[in-house]
Amino acid sequence: MQYNAWFAAQDNPNERYPLTEVVYYSQSGGLLEVTHDMDALRQHSAAEWKEIFERRWMRTSWPYGSGVWGKKEWVCPVISDDNVVSMFEGGTNLFWAERLGRELGLKDLWLKLCGNSHTGSFKDLGMTVLISVVRQMMAEGKPVRAVACASTGDTSAALACYGAAADIPTIVFLPKGKVSTAQLVQPIAHGALVLALDTDFDGCMRVVRQLTADPDMGIYLANSLNSLRIEGQKTVGIEIVQQFDWDVPEWIVIPGGNLGNVAALGKGLLMLHELGLINRLPRIVCAQAENANPLYRAYQQGFAQYEPITARPTAASAIQIGDPVSINRAVRILQRFDGIVEQASEQELADAAARADRSGAYACPHTGVALAAAIKLIDRGVIDKSERVVVISTAHGLKFSNFKVDYHEGKLNEAVSRFANPPVEVAPDLDAVRRVLDNWMERPVGQGTTSR
Ligand SMILES: *Cc1c(COP(=O)(O)O)cnc(C)c1O
Repeated sequence: MQYNAWFAAQDNPNERYPLTEVVYYSQSGGLLEVTHDMDALRQHSAAEWKEIFERRWMRTSWPYGSGVWGKKEWVCPVISDDNVVSMFEGGTNLFWAERLGRELGLKDLWLKLCGNSHTGSFKDLGMTVLISVVRQMMAEGKPVRAVACASTGDTSAALACYGAAADIPTIVFLPKGKVSTAQLVQPIAHGALVLALDTDFDGCMRVVRQLTADPDMGIYLANSLNSLRIEGQKTVGIEIVQQFDWDVPEWIVIPGGNLGNVAALGKGLLMLHELGLINRLPRIVCAQAENANPLYRAYQQGFAQYEPITARPTAASAIQIGDPVSINRAVRILQRFDGIVEQASEQELADAAARADRSGAYACPHTGVALAAAIKLIDRGVIDKSERVVVISTAHGLKFSNFKVDYHEGKLNEAVSRFANPPVEVAPDLDAVRRVLDNWMERPVGQGTTSR
């Protein structure tokens, strides 16, 4: 069976380019979308696709054990298996957050832990596809000498890692002083050229766009305006449904910055729908930090109007973006999925992350944004307490230790640490320890848990 996919212009499906061509925009200036030959995919029935995906799930047969490459025909069929660069990404755990759900009054709350991945965020899902295509381009003699991205941290970590694995020179542009230590050290460790620019993410993005527009440089753009990233990231929605034995949850809540990921989530779900593996769609909630909320503002106007903003600092640093490149894609998806955009203040995101932690999760600030949005929608009765809700956790909490430490030391900006739990200093002496313990054990049962 011959599967195929290509870049197509949104406004003109006949304007097509091979996936191995260095091209990011259509002639009219819009972003290209990867488009699949759906008739070829329809040669398998829905039941057959489910069986194929189940058979490959988390096995070792190269490269199909990867959560992304297990869906290869749907993602990037034109790449030879030899050129795939994979770290066994995807297949992340989806767990029932029973205690947190109970505390919020929800019976069926689930966390999809995309941060339990090689570089600690969902960015691996897209980067494996992009780097694999670059490797194929290089094998075909295309004029690509290096890959580059602007990043709020996690993109550069993933690009540097996959670039290193494939031995492809990597350049990352970071806003100076605006990424976590863990995120900064990852590309450094992987041998990338790390350029710290005295600007914000949007400023880095402008520079890297100009740089990669010059064909003589031979530098390939790895940001999510490159639709190859979207193809890998779209597997998250497919995976969630597969993990529920092909049952569709009522709600999926996802944090959004540059808005590639929410667009990708919707794209994967639409493909499931189009190929008959599911017969209804979930509603999608895109959650933004109040300090970086251009999509939320547009949503308030019924998406009639969109204005880029200057994003203010937020603990959710990976989504501190004022001019998201995938705005149009995201709006299209949200309209299709009866979507909602909600926002979270610094206080709300910090509290939500801390409450999740106290129930055994370990939430990064972006996950805090998504959880805070879910809490607001539950409180307003928009999300019904009987419904199944999946919150996408986008990065591992350990990548944001500085956020956690600042929270528990009461040092966060714009937030009071209601659930701070600093260490108790005590003399190395049994009586002293006993006094502390007596006090601690006298708390009524349940205190210290997060009452609302
Ligand atoms: C990149 C990122 C996001 C936002 O994804 P977008 O595609 O930019 O909307 C959210 N959380 C984390 C941890 C990220 O790294």
